[in-house]
Amino acid sequence: MSLKIDEISAIIKQQIKQHKQSTELKEQGIIISVADSVVLIYGLDNALLGELLNFSDNTTGMVLSLEEDVVGAVLLDENPEIKEGDVVYRTGTVVEIGVGDALLGRIVNGLGQAIDSGPKLKIKKNRPIEAIAPGVMYRETVNEPLETGILSIDAMIPIGKGQRELIVGDRQTGKTAIAIDTIINQKGKNVNCVYVAIGQKNSSVAQIVQKLKEHDAMEYTTIVAATASKLAPQQYLAPYTGISIAEEWREQGKDVLIVYDDLSKHAVAYRTMSLLLRRPPGREAYPGDIFYLHSRLLERAVKINKKHGGGTITALPIIETQAEDISAYIPTNVISITDGQLFLVNDLFNSGQRPAVDSGISVSRVGSEAQIKGIKQVSRSLKLELAQYRELQAFSQFGSDLDKDTKIILEHGKRVLELLKQEQYKPLNQIDQILILLSAQERLIKWIPTELIGEYRDRMLTNFHKKGKAIWDEIDQTKALGDKVKAQALALLKKFTIDFTASIPNYNGDSYGDFAEFAKEN
Ligand code: ATP
Ligand code: MG
Repeated sequence: MSLKIDEISAIIKQQIKQHKQSTELKEQGIIISVADSVVLIYGLDNALLGELLNFSDNTTGMVLSLEEDVVGAVLLDENPEIKEGDVVYRTGTVVEIGVGDALLGRIVNGLGQAIDSGPKLKIKKNRPIEAIAPGVMYRETVNEPLETGILSIDAMIPIGKGQRELIVGDRQTGKTAIAIDTIINQKGKNVNCVYVAIGQKNSSVAQIVQKLKEHDAMEYTTIVAATASKLAPQQYLAPYTGISIAEEWREQGKDVLIVYDDLSKHAVAYRTMSLLLRRPPGREAYPGDIFYLHSRLLERAVKINKKHGGGTITALPIIETQAEDISAYIPTNVISITDGQLFLVNDLFNSGQRPAVDSGISVSRVGSEAQIKGIKQVSRSLKLELAQYRELQAFSQFGSDLDKDTKIILEHGKRVLELLKQEQYKPLNQIDQILILLSAQERLIKWIPTELIGEYRDRMLTNFHKKGKAIWDEIDQTKALGDKVKAQALALLKKFTIDFTASIPNYNGDSYGDFAEFAKEN
């Protein structure tokens, strides 16, 4: 870092004027340059990484790089009135934010300050935004489900409390939709939610808040918003602010869900800051510590054991890919940090298969331990059936003459995919999910024309809630399908299936199998 002659002379002049002793200079420094929210400072020999600095106009900054004779810092406030030659003071503290229940239902910025129209935040406690993740002695394995309410995910790629599951896909593939639906589904389940919006448009965040309000989900949710119009440092800090808010609740033994939407933009904000601080660029021009940036954030998602108070933080980071390239730097980094990935693919999304989760390549490494027994019982073969379907579908396009077995797999797969289609903001209860999956496992859906599957599913549930309340409640209590209750549920489902087919005009039996026989038996 070379200093210009006039900068040096200005510094010397200032020093002489103020007769500063060298010891004092260590606690204060002089601005050498200010540009794009990044400040280079001379002096501050004792400054610490992450330390908060005070500027002469009462704005604040944070130390981000320590070099031999220059300290690099980022500005945390907008429109500061500082210039070269101004004095900077150390504070000896790190960045802290307000935490606690006062934040529920509120929107805060990357520094934890309220930015909604609500009353002044009544903060009783502060926490530093950086914290060391709990060690292995405090943790236990994931064993409780974090219900997303999305059938395809809960059945095939289940997420557990304390897990980190990445949502990854190109732009406009329904990534945010999955996260928001999961938040909406936590209603009445005693899970506090934190949604961190990084580098998004103000209007998108406003829409999300609106949707959460409509579904009474803001009551247990905090939004941390560092939108695209905010300085890079705010976008950089937002996820840490979010996880600190979550950690306060976790320490009280609560379950928390945190969404980072999205970490690609977070990485870009950090890259911008690093390049302005003239740190050496690495792969894709990201600084060398970009992996550490995300790993230290995601390590703070945790399931704490009973001995240390319980409490969980489940993290759903989102990553946007370009042309489904998951081998780019940031996607590979975050894939290797998380416990599984939900891959959203363009083909599925564009063909109307929404949520566009590709069950073939999506994984959840720890979540199946957490699935409730009832869902496990009816979803075991689902992934395989869909894999077989996809395989056969690819080559069945070439020939018209298909043998019976192939046809059965294709017809079944088509119907299962229809069953898995789910609109936004309509999370499904676990027991309802069991019933839907049971109708697939028992092949009841084969009697239903593919284009009517959606209607069949919805009416089947309504019918079951009305006529099978006692059975529903029993499954709910045991969270499993015992032999007796399964037979009862199945009888009701079969009867409904026959009634449903009767209401289809010109129903001509089925695509395969013998409907007449089925109808007679039931
Ligand atoms: P971006 O890259 O812009 O952040 P995204 O991947 O987060 O996009 P969303 O904003 O969640 O995608 O969804 C994109 C569009 O698809 C939205 O208009 C949304 O309403 C619609 N959409 C998402 N999920 C579904 C669904 N399950 N059913 C129907 N429409 C959906
Ligand atoms: Mg989005």
